Amino acid sequence: MAEINPESLPEEKAPVNFIHQIIQEDIKNNKNNGRVHTRFPPEPNGYLHIGHAKSICLNFGTAAKFGGKCNLRFDDTNPVKEDTEYVDSIMEDVRWLGFNWDGLYYASDYFDTLYEYAKKLIIKKLAYVCDLSQEEMSLQRGTVTKPGTDSPYRNRTVEENLDLFRRMRAGEFPEGARVLRAKIDMAHANMLMRDPILYRIIHAEHHNTGDKWCIYPMYDFAHGQCDSIEGITHSICTLEFEVHRPLYDWFIEKLEIFAPQQIEFARLNLSYTVMSKRKLLQLVNEGHVNGWDDPRMPTISGLRRRGFTPESIRRFADVIGVAKRDQVIDVSLLEFCLREDLNKKADRLMAVLNPVKLIIDNYPEGQVEYLDAVINPEDPEKGFRKVPFSKELFIEKEDFMIDPPGKFFRLKPGGEVRLKYAYIIKCESFLQDPVTGEVTEIHCTYEPDTRSGMPNSNKKVKGTLHWAAVSNSVKSEVRLYDRLFVKETPEDVEEGQDFKVNLNPDSLKVVTAYCEPAISQYKPGDKVQFERMGYFCVDQDSTETNLVINRTTTLKDNWAKIAGKE
Ligand code: ATP
Ligand code: MG
Repeated sequence: MAEINPESLPEEKAPVNFIHQIIQEDIKNNKNNGRVHTRFPPEPNGYLHIGHAKSICLNFGTAAKFGGKCNLRFDDTNPVKEDTEYVDSIMEDVRWLGFNWDGLYYASDYFDTLYEYAKKLIIKKLAYVCDLSQEEMSLQRGTVTKPGTDSPYRNRTVEENLDLFRRMRAGEFPEGARVLRAKIDMAHANMLMRDPILYRIIHAEHHNTGDKWCIYPMYDFAHGQCDSIEGITHSICTLEFEVHRPLYDWFIEKLEIFAPQQIEFARLNLSYTVMSKRKLLQLVNEGHVNGWDDPRMPTISGLRRRGFTPESIRRFADVIGVAKRDQVIDVSLLEFCLREDLNKKADRLMAVLNPVKLIIDNYPEGQVEYLDAVINPEDPEKGFRKVPFSKELFIEKEDFMIDPPGKFFRLKPGGEVRLKYAYIIKCESFLQDPVTGEVTEIHCTYEPDTRSGMPNSNKKVKGTLHWAAVSNSVKSEVRLYDRLFVKETPEDVEEGQDFKVNLNPDSLKVVTAYCEPAISQYKPGDKVQFERMGYFCVDQDSTETNLVINRTTTLKDNWAKIAGKE
């Protein structure tokens, strides 16, 4: 776990990282005439997650920092797994994070050019059509310690190769019958350089090119060339592509085209969640969550629905920096960045999530007072809201204990507390359910001159409770979300077990809450702080008659306590 102390977070400026150092040096040397052009290249085979957000912030942020450009390019070379639903969601997520692409491209836009590039390699005797089956090919590849064997088709003539490649494209052969391979070195120390496949036959409809093609380039043959065509100067990708870099450079060199520089950084992993699209898809398909945008998902759409702000995610991406070695970042750092942002922005309201009735016996029946409450102490210009107060209120069940331990400063029999924005009250008696013993009603008296602005308003009591008026509250459905997994690294499982054994059975609890009336003015996506309870947002499932609210995060890190970190 990378240790980052939120107390000592850097100032809000992009910290210098090794990629920026490389670029600074390149600019100094007038490489590419000082031009900086990056790209974010997602494969449209799933929704983006927080790891992608890191990559987006890095690519777009780097371009912005150096006055350069950044493209969005869909890496859509595999027609089978890709879908326009994903394309749309990716564009929405990138925009939501606050970025605008300079160019919008699809790798499939370049299929014609890539096909010509492949022919060029054939003509240079650097590529050949191979008829070996997949199994034969993998048997002949050798191992890390043993060189591979040359394919019997390796020395086909240029004419024969051009003819077969043309016929592959024309659809004359079934899937798997033939591939186009680079002719590099079957004894190369880097296995990826042992005559890698450039094209394979796939008889499938492509979301962008329809049925125009039945041969599709492999990732390695497409990616660098797409970068080159777009004039990308710095091709930033994650560490697993480090071993691909010799191949990336080989294609560029042999094709004699513009040479981008590939730079690798460490993938972001986050504690208490999984990040692979394949696993996220499994959670969706098997119904462990309610879709890609379930507020428990680490997807950008999930985080958005949960109530995260783009600013908090960008700040998180800045704070974690750019690492050269794989790391797991503590999710509480992400939550810290979120609280920091919401504290500034979220309007304050009171809501009772687990109510018990409290009756103020000496308060006039039928009277309603509208008390002034600050909307956001961090933003005084927002002014005040009016909170209705009356004889019958709700408070949180947890805020009353019949026989509390020592330092309990909330309400107890005979004890006094302040009701926030209102009066000091004293508990006189309470009623209990005869069977369960549960407290069903609390009776209090209040001191009329303890309200703000009144003679005795600064009388001190130790506890202050939030509350909601019984007959003047808005009832709402509140979804209390918690971490999706109980384990820091959910993928660490016993032999034969699945990462899903670590799912948190209590990641969602639904309760009925009573909110002060001001809640009605908020729309889906709006964020508020329920005082003492946490940050919440209005969910898109809300209707005219049923307000649905998500808990974004608690005010403090409850898990730190559980993990003994506090
Ligand atoms: P996954 O492994 O989750 O399926 P992927 O790498 O296949 O992700 P792509 O669509 O290919 O997803 O990723 C687009 C870009 O985002 C790539 O440049 C990739 O390196 C980067 N990226 C993906 N996951 C992470 C991560 N966890 N941290 C940082 N960058 C990431
Ligand atoms: Mg990928």
